[in-house]
Formats: sequence, C-alpha cells, structure tokens
Amino acid sequence: MPHATDDIIRAMQSPSSEDQKAIQIAYEFAKVAHGEEKRKSGEPYIIHPTAIAVTLAKLGMDRETIIAGILHDTVEDTPVTIEEIEEKFGATVRFLVEGVTKLSKLKYRGVERHVESLRRLLVATANDIRVIIIKLADRLHNMETITFVEPIEKRMRIALETKEVYVPIAERLGIGLIKSQLEDLAFKTLEPERYKKIHQFLEERGETEKEALDRALNDLRKALAEAGIRNFRTESRVKNVHSFATKLIRKGNDPDKVYDIFAIRIIVPTLEDCYRSFGVIHNIWRPIPGRIKDYIASPKPNGYRTLHTTIITPHKLIIEIQIRSEEMQQESKFGVMAHFIYKNKSQGSEPGKDSKIGWVGRFVPSLMKMTRAEKSLTQTSAPTPRWLTDLNTAAEEFEGEEAFKDALREDFFARRMFVFTPKGDVIDLPIGATPIDFAYAVHTNLVDLMSGAKVNGKMVGLDTELHKGDIVEIQTKKIGTPNKKWLDYTKTASARRYIRATLKKKENKS
Ligand code: MN
Repeated sequence: MPHATDDIIRAMQSPSSEDQKAIQIAYEFAKVAHGEEKRKSGEPYIIHPTAIAVTLAKLGMDRETIIAGILHDTVEDTPVTIEEIEEKFGATVRFLVEGVTKLSKLKYRGVERHVESLRRLLVATANDIRVIIIKLADRLHNMETITFVEPIEKRMRIALETKEVYVPIAERLGIGLIKSQLEDLAFKTLEPERYKKIHQFLEERGETEKEALDRALNDLRKALAEAGIRNFRTESRVKNVHSFATKLIRKGNDPDKVYDIFAIRIIVPTLEDCYRSFGVIHNIWRPIPGRIKDYIASPKPNGYRTLHTTIITPHKLIIEIQIRSEEMQQESKFGVMAHFIYKNKSQGSEPGKDSKIGWVGRFVPSLMKMTRAEKSLTQTSAPTPRWLTDLNTAAEEFEGEEAFKDALREDFFARRMFVFTPKGDVIDLPIGATPIDFAYAVHTNLVDLMSGAKVNGKMVGLDTELHKGDIVEIQTKKIGTPNKKWLDYTKTASARRYIRATLKKKENKS
C-alpha cells in the first residue's frame, strides 16, 4: 500500500530530502497522536490532516506550514501539548499550530458586524498569513466531508460561515483555487435543489458542446503555432456552479446571455506574448463587442491580471478566451502566495528561515493595494468589509510600505484587542476600552439601557479597562439614558459621539 505521505510529497514543488524526512516524522507523530480517533465519516482521523497537507503542498506552502497542517488538530483533540510540538518541530510550527488552534475556538453567529469581526480577527490573529492558509485548507476538507455532519442545523451553520467568512477571505487573498471550491461546496449545502439543477445544466451543456469546444481548441492551437507563439499551453474550463448561478440571476435567468460558461485559457511565457496572442485570436474569430477586457493594464481589486475576450466560433459556440502569462496564472490560483513561491524558488532560500517576515511584508502591501483599488470602484455591490476599511485607514496614516508594515505590527494590531460576549461572539475594541465601548459595539441601544457590567463573571465599575480575551456581560434596565460621566470612561470616538448626541436630545426635550 502506498504511504499517505507520498501524496503530500508528490504535491510539493521539488521537496528536498530533509523536507521529505520532516514530513514523514510529522505524519507518524500525528497518526500516533490521533490513534483510534475517527472522522464523522468513520474513516481514521489522520485522513483529515493528510488532506490538508496535500492542499497546502499544492498551494506551494513551505515545509513548516505543511507540517503545521499535519499537526493542526493534535493540540485541540489529543493529549499532545504545544510545548511538545515546539520541542519536536521548532518554534515556527508551534506558532502556526497555536494560531490555528486559537482560531478554531471562534464561533459564527450570523450577525453582520460579527461576521466582519470574525474576518478581521482571522486576519489580525494571523500576524502570519500562513495561519489563515492552513485554516482555509482545513475548511476546504471539512466542507468536502460536510454531508457526514449531523444535525443539519450544524451543517448549515458551517456552510453559511464558509460562505460569509472564508470565501471572502480566499477571494481577497486572490486564491482562486480554494475560493471557487469553497463557494460551490457552501452553495451545494445551503441550496441543494438549486445547486443540483444548475450543476446538471452545466454538465449537459458541457456534454453537448464538447465537440465544438475541442474543435475550437484545435483551431486555436494551430493558429497560435503558425503565428510563431512558442511554449504556450491551453486549458478549458466550464464555469463553476455558484458563479454561474449568480450570473444567471443578473442576466434575467437567460443562460444564453451568460457568455462565459465555456472558457479557454491560454498561458504564454511573457507579457508580450499575451498581446500577440490576443491579435491572433481576433484574426481567426469574431469578437463580441464590449467583451474585451484588459485586466493586465487595469487589474481587478484582488490583483487578478488577464486579457479577456469573447468570441463566436463558426460552429456558433460562444467562448470566453482568457490570456495570461505563467506568472499571472500562478497569481490567479495562489493569490498573494504566488510571489512568495517565486521568491523562495528564485533565491533558493531555506524554507521558513525568514519567511514569516516575508509573509507579512508581502501580504500587507497587497491588502493595501486591494483596499485602495476597491475604494475607486464604483460598481462594487457589497460594501467594503470593515476590517479592510480599518486597514485602509491605517495604511493612509503612514507613508511607504515599510513604515506601514511596522505600524501594522507594532501599532495598529497592538492597539486593538478582541473580547467576547457570553455567547462567544467576537467584539474588537481599541486597547483601554471599557464596558461602555463594549456595549456600544454590541448594539447601540445597549448603551442607553446599561446599568452595570460583569467581566469574567465579576461585577466591575463602568470605568474598568477591559483586557484581551475578557468575557463581558452587560446588565440592563428597562428604560434609561447614558450618564454624562460616562463620556470620561469612553475610549472610542463613535461611542462618545453617540452618548453626547443622546444627552443633547434629552436636554432639548426637557
Ligand atoms: Mn481540522
């Protein structure tokens, strides 16, 4: 029987013999630790960390991240301690496993502001973005095996959380590979009937048009070769179920108006080749007007770069053609990680040596770029999530990427803390915030009715400074207004503004 670590090692890009040895050791360690534990499917638990490690390897993650993926559930579910992990696998792996364990304690309650908090918390906690990537890989496998989760309410909660928290994160990070899978799995769980119908439609369409699509691919390859384009490759894809469903609604439920059900991707070596191929295509096929998009000159907010055009073949098949360089292809699949992979490869640096710095350095500026680009978009449907807005505001206060990076690490995140409601909802507040700030953050009206507060089960004064991780419970009365004194106890400007306005209103009335 082939060993499970073979799958992991095969998915890695040129692993060294030390990499292989280290992964083997981590695998054996996790297997022993999980022992007889089973997944809900009845399979041995170890298949879960193995699946995650394979995903991480495919994403081109470094050795430490893959090992942390293998070990990610050991501290939470087995007698293994975090100290033991550090002793056997080093400080970086410990840090990553600790981060993932911490994140798994957070719960989703389906309230808008808490979704935002959770997204932000995910990003903030991962001072090191590798923690988030492990979490995304973990979520992917959990979604792949979600049919075994009972009861159905739990399944729905996980799927909703996936859709509202994890899909947006994968999208912002530009990791198309994970984003579209998560999106379809969540859709399948939340709306099984609609998913089934659309999935079936796409499959049938793919079946009937297969021949025409193959012929188009052949014609295209021939034309590119004749035009002297070297070393190109092509792939074709059918649109993923969720994005087709979304587009279908936008197009008044007329599938004939969805022009990108089928797409052919051309991957060429260089940027110049992209534009040259573009010309070749328009030479052999008729482009549909208004469908030519140069996302190389103007990348999408998440950094996506590719040339798009839509054509009609002589066999009346409408196909979207996407042209990109190898580098752009990596970016669209791996997002922010693409640069990391490239950098690591080209410098042949030791994995994990100073990659943590590399991660933050790369991640933050690209997030900055995203938020800036996003701001300038006029047609964005969803409002910018608050965690992005906050990052953006912080970004604008500092000049230069270096300064911002430092500021973010030492200043911005260091000035924020996360506290919890008794139900486990996450509330983020500035350091030094009091129960009054907390009440305002939970619900504006809560400030009016506030009569007292408990922190970690103990009654406290309303001027008490909260600390990170505190569980805060607000006590209320039936009717009330804020006390003027509270203005001195309030750390957040928005809460102070609200209290002032409420007091003024009351004065005017009397
Ligand atoms: Mn897990």
